[in-house]
Amino acid sequence: MATILVLGGGYAGMRAVKFLQREVPSEHEIILVDKSGTHTEKTNLHEVAAGTIAPEKITYEINDIIGSRVNFIRDTVTNVDVDQKQVTLADHEPITYDYLVLALGFQSETFGLKGAEENALPMDDLATSEAVYQHIEKTIKGYNQTQDPNDLTIAVCGAGFTGIELLGELTQSLPKLQTKYNTPAIKLVCLERMTSILPMFDKSLGDYAMQFLAKHNVEMKLGSSITEITPNSVMYTDGNDQEHEVKANTIVWTVGVSGSHVIADSGFEQRRNRVVVNDDLTLKDHPEVYIIGDVSAVMDPESNRPYPTTAQIALAAGTQAAKNIGLQLRGRATQKFVYKSSGTVASLSDRDGIGEIGSSNRKVKGYVASALKKIITDRSLFESAHLSTVFAKGRFDLYH
Ligand SMILES: Cc1cc2nc3c(=O)[nH]c(=O)nc-3n(C[C@H](O)[C@H](O)[C@H](O)COP(=O)(O)OP(=O)(O)OC[C@H]3O[C@@H](n4cnc5c(N)ncnc54)[C@H](O)[C@@H]3O)c2cc1C
Repeated sequence: MATILVLGGGYAGMRAVKFLQREVPSEHEIILVDKSGTHTEKTNLHEVAAGTIAPEKITYEINDIIGSRVNFIRDTVTNVDVDQKQVTLADHEPITYDYLVLALGFQSETFGLKGAEENALPMDDLATSEAVYQHIEKTIKGYNQTQDPNDLTIAVCGAGFTGIELLGELTQSLPKLQTKYNTPAIKLVCLERMTSILPMFDKSLGDYAMQFLAKHNVEMKLGSSITEITPNSVMYTDGNDQEHEVKANTIVWTVGVSGSHVIADSGFEQRRNRVVVNDDLTLKDHPEVYIIGDVSAVMDPESNRPYPTTAQIALAAGTQAAKNIGLQLRGRATQKFVYKSSGTVASLSDRDGIGEIGSSNRKVKGYVASALKKIITDRSLFESAHLSTVFAKGRFDLYH
């Protein structure tokens, strides 16, 4: 009997667990470890951070959906020793495996920027995203006592995918908070080092997003290199190296992410906690170790560069890793991981967005794009969980 150990119940790990139950004969043991008892749909964290969706809408109990064959252990992984085939946990005995699927996901990355760790709010899991909204609401509510104008300024650092999606949601929730606490207008400022946004999309879509943000009075400070975060301000230099400051009592950090720190802590050869894997998703010299999702760097054979880390690729890799373990257990050769993106969509609130869909990269914008994002989310829910979960938590109002 082989022990197959899956670390991380995110998109990659949950998908692997689902397919392992199909691909692996029943005499083999499947163990899943996650530090949280719930699976979180992290593609919707920005909605929790902006207060436009309840946290329960994007989480579901791991025990409810894994199936009876899987032994779920709720604990934090602290170290992975691939030579000893052993994983160390914070509160349980170490686990020895025959096959390992490492899928510990991403964490916020400050790149060592002065003051970012202490003074800016990350949003890389459910708890930190809830904390962002709680801080926003508390600060806006507090304005009536403090009369501090900085209470009514929110600075978002970084105009990548996450920053733009967060800004889009905030344009919807801030007017409601303004009415609720009867305050003057709340200001949204975004600082970004690059001089344009969302380079993964055609320029016309980036322009559409910029117009959306301008229409909602978001101040976009492009070409601004952040130099320091203080408790109440973002310091930055402009294109002429002139120093400036944005004063704000809420500062959200969406500049970048890396893979889980467990990767570096465990001594893997890595870059930003991502490990380059073989074309069948295994670790070099370790055919029994699969590294998938945001902790892996999967090379795109066409560009010879790693694919961007996304939920979409994490799901596809979860399926392939499970299939390959099934093949290995039957004494057969593993298959190469082949990835075809079905498109990318960024939401700009509940009713707007931009995207490129299908192999022809068909451009979509407006409500169609935002609806497509919901369809993609519901489909991933359906593929990893049960239909009942989609009906209970699906994004379209018609489900309710
Ligand atoms: C706001 C936002 C919007 C996004 N939108 C999109 C999108 O539209 N499309 C898209 O494809 N991607 C999107 N992404 C990216 C996507 O969320 C990630 O690529 C995806 O979550 C990676 O999946 P994963 O399974 O590798 O890791 P994760 O989803 O990060 O899951 C990792 C799991 O591991 C567990 N874990 C972590 N550390 C430990 C530990 N030490 N011990 C035990 N358990 C641990 C966590 O609890 C978690 O359950 C978005 C990301 C953000 C933040």
